[in-house]
Amino acid sequence: MKKIAILGSTGSIGTQTLDVVRANGDLEVLGITAGSNIQKLEEQIREFHPKLVAVMKEEAAKELRDKVADLDVRIVTGMEGLLEVAAMPETEILVTAVVGMIGIRPTIEAIKAGKDIALANKETLVTAGHIIMPLAKEMGVQILPVDSEHSAIFQALNGEHHKEIHKLLITASGGPFRGRKTEDLKKVTLADTLKHPNWVMGQKITVDSATLVNKGLEVMEAKWLFGMDLDQIQVVVQPQSVIHSMIEFVDGGIMAQLGTPDMRLPIQYALYYPHRRYLAGDRLDFAALKQITFEEPDMDTFLGLPMAIQASRIGGTMPTVFNAANERAVAKFLRQEIGFLDIYALIQASMEAHKVKENPDLDLILETEQETYEFVESQVSGL
Ligand code: NAD
Ligand code: MG
Repeated sequence: MKKIAILGSTGSIGTQTLDVVRANGDLEVLGITAGSNIQKLEEQIREFHPKLVAVMKEEAAKELRDKVADLDVRIVTGMEGLLEVAAMPETEILVTAVVGMIGIRPTIEAIKAGKDIALANKETLVTAGHIIMPLAKEMGVQILPVDSEHSAIFQALNGEHHKEIHKLLITASGGPFRGRKTEDLKKVTLADTLKHPNWVMGQKITVDSATLVNKGLEVMEAKWLFGMDLDQIQVVVQPQSVIHSMIEFVDGGIMAQLGTPDMRLPIQYALYYPHRRYLAGDRLDFAALKQITFEEPDMDTFLGLPMAIQASRIGGTMPTVFNAANERAVAKFLRQEIGFLDIYALIQASMEAHKVKENPDLDLILETEQETYEFVESQVSGL
């Protein structure tokens, strides 16, 4: 039995991780965490029997303790609770499926405790990659990508030599507004934004896919995961989401990983790496697909991508500002307090107002996050 814990077990990646656990029978879930979905947590506790469960608020914990009083499970709370699940002594792998930079501290804690990380939580790597990657190396733990693009690159790297990579080609669907111009984006609604053409995901990443912020975060994630220069990473729009990403090697040869859009594959690959397991589900039918098409990303309209690249080039605390401004702006967009294009305006204003500090430690990253949230709040009244 391989022993795992999952941060964010009630979300899109979290529940699909549990689908993989259910289908295999040799994974044991010892710890799970969630924000506030007590009902789903209770179901998960009854089905998977974790020993330790963390929720964010004490009130939710009380309610959950009452619901599962008949079971042998300990319920803990807040950041302390998240850290405890992340570093449980018995686990081998931590699946980081929380959304946002709340994942930084638990990820670091898990690496320090010697856990391999199945990493979905890209915001953590974007803001603290310069801390996490060297720490993982020092501790001898593996960072196994769950994001489909990074899993594709990881799979395509099998048997190859890292120094022979010429560039990474990260594919993008283009999101629900592909082909539209800024003028059209003024009027788009929350409902339009949440209709992703190919993937069903959590709300935040679905909005990020529409703004192309997600692709920007993925470029930064790839830079850290694979030790690449930004100039070696190219984004290619491939609207059918069949090619999950590619590597071009120095001799011009290209390796790609293809498949139906199904996150269970990268999740399962990370959990069993370097082995593959049978996975039930639709297979790619090339005759039905007929064609795979390519485009350049529209960087003049979808500012999330060029702004992310700029933040990454500047480095230091700037990727944290980019990410934190986006997190806060997207939360406001989801509550319908601001419009779609305001997301770009808030990120841009936050980046312009920020004085960069080089090589931030964890405290400075978290401080910069708070300052950025406050800055975004101060800007919203002026929109
Ligand atoms: P989601 O919103 O569906 O789930 C998020 C999970 O985190 C839930 O369990 C929620 O309870 C928990 N959570 C949310 N806020 C929290 C907080 N403040 N404190 C503690 N727990 C909190 O998100 P998702 O779509 O599963 O995405 C999770 C991560 O995986 C994100 O970083 C996302 O970018 C990445 N990712 C997701 C997909 C996908 O297909 N969904 C694909 C690639 C990468
Ligand atoms: Mg992705």
